[in-house]
Amino acid sequence: MRRFFSYYTPYKMLFFVDFFCAVLVGLLELAFPLIVNLFIDELLPSGNWQWILFASAGLLLVYAFNTFMQFIVTYWGHMLGTNIERDIRNDLYAHIQRLSHSFFDNTKTGKLLTRLTNDLMNVGEMAHHGPEDLFIAVMTLLGAFGVMLSIHAELAVISFIIVPFILIIAIYFNKKMTIAFRELFSRVSDFNHMIEDKIGGIRLVQAYANEDREMDNFRKLNEAFRATKLKAYKIMALNTSSTYMLMRLVTVFILIAGAYYTMQGELTFGEFAAFILISNILFKPLEKINAVIELYPNGIAGFKHFTEILREVPDVQEKENAVPLTDVRGHIEYDNVTFGYEAKKVLNNISLTIHPGETIAFVGPSGAGKTTLAALLPRFYDVSGGGIRIDGTDIRDYTLPTLRENIGTVQQDVFLFSGTLRDNVAYGKPDATDEEVYDAIEKAQLKSLVDGYPRGLDTVVGERGVKLSGGQKQRISIARMFLKNPPILILDEATSALDTATELEIQKALNLLSKGRTTLVIAHRLATIKNANRIMVVTNDGIVESGTHEELLNIDNGKYRALHDAQYRFS
Ligand code: ADP
Ligand code: MG
Repeated sequence: MRRFFSYYTPYKMLFFVDFFCAVLVGLLELAFPLIVNLFIDELLPSGNWQWILFASAGLLLVYAFNTFMQFIVTYWGHMLGTNIERDIRNDLYAHIQRLSHSFFDNTKTGKLLTRLTNDLMNVGEMAHHGPEDLFIAVMTLLGAFGVMLSIHAELAVISFIIVPFILIIAIYFNKKMTIAFRELFSRVSDFNHMIEDKIGGIRLVQAYANEDREMDNFRKLNEAFRATKLKAYKIMALNTSSTYMLMRLVTVFILIAGAYYTMQGELTFGEFAAFILISNILFKPLEKINAVIELYPNGIAGFKHFTEILREVPDVQEKENAVPLTDVRGHIEYDNVTFGYEAKKVLNNISLTIHPGETIAFVGPSGAGKTTLAALLPRFYDVSGGGIRIDGTDIRDYTLPTLRENIGTVQQDVFLFSGTLRDNVAYGKPDATDEEVYDAIEKAQLKSLVDGYPRGLDTVVGERGVKLSGGQKQRISIARMFLKNPPILILDEATSALDTATELEIQKALNLLSKGRTTLVIAHRLATIKNANRIMVVTNDGIVESGTHEELLNIDNGKYRALHDAQYRFS
């Protein structure tokens, strides 16, 4: 809760002005019953038109002022709500961006989507209506009670007897609503996850002609969503109607008791009328309290989800006294590195040294841990034992952004953002000039592709680059890397998914790219790494062989030789 209120701090002024106006709005409502009282008891009997018009003009003035106040309350109140919603959302996004790969390995994107949109909208609503409406309602209730007390104390107390019951009912239903809404939230999140997953994979769904099965799944989710929502509405309906009943009970109470006191001569007609009108005004704050109570569970659940994510601590963190990694020579040492994903050990006491400018290749069966080995260098995951040094310093002693700026990874599956070719290439260096972009495109052998499009670099690539072929996407990622220009390069099966002709072409671009950089190549086809300075064979037992292509071929019964023979048997 303290964390929630901290979001109000920058908007103290806005909050208090809004608060003050809102209380005025509530209290000024009491003007009408009082004027009616005046009309019935004084003005009508006196028959003085001047006074009647004067009082009416006064009421009109109050209403005009109140209209203005209401505008302020609605507009500024929501300004407060939207500001807070924006601030919370910015904080959440900033935090999500800092979380580590391990978090995203285990979290559904749809869930995060829900947190960032729906949940925070509810928090925004609560931020505005929550404390404000509650306070206004209490003030109006107190104001009404005060006026009633000043007219007739006994009748005031009788009218108010039911109010606590209304509040108790509201609180009771609030508890039920909280539970219902929490369930509803998790359904929305399921939904978003499914849409993200299955519409993202629609091409696979259609290729397997699995539309009917997916539709069934969707129907089930949709139905569960409907049922949960209906349950929430049922509670809402019960709440609204029982509150309504109790409120009308107040009216009937006042009618009977008021009639009695009027006949006893303790109450004038005007006061009787005023009482009935005030009892109607009374409903407003009660309804407001009820509305807030309906809104609360939403907002609280949303805020809870928010704090849950905020409590996630990134596995990979920067040290407090971290230093920037600059002027990289590219000397890399893995020193007794051990690592596993959760319980699963993947790397065991791996040690290796790579000298500046060297190209080292890693080969071996899939699942042996080659990608993992490379992912440890930019600290996408942290080692669980041993350490990795760049230019003699442990990578955990460098600041994260500078470490990652200096390491570039080209992977087999290229991720492109939706946008243009230019956007995607320039992602490697957002402030790149046109010349730099064109230079990178030329080096990445992309020029003929770009020239082939009538719109050139402004061609839209589609979501995740669906409008491009694998080789084209790969070339874009290479162009991106030329712009990023990192001294250390990781090529993780960059050409494995391509046909041999395309592979050869892209290999040219990659050779150019790796020139002058310390390069780690993970490759499937041995032909592409023959010229590496050293080749390491990685299996589940770690690095089992290491040497040049020729050296490794000469090992009798060697793993590398076996791999080599298997690939060239038919050629
Ligand atoms: P390679 O690149 O040599 O094919 P990887 O480094 O990708 O091997 O994977 C090594 C092992 O770690 C595999 O058994 C794989 O299932 C597991 N693994 C890879 N990535 C993850 C991850 N994000 N979470 C859990 N296990 C993983
Ligand atoms: Mg791999």
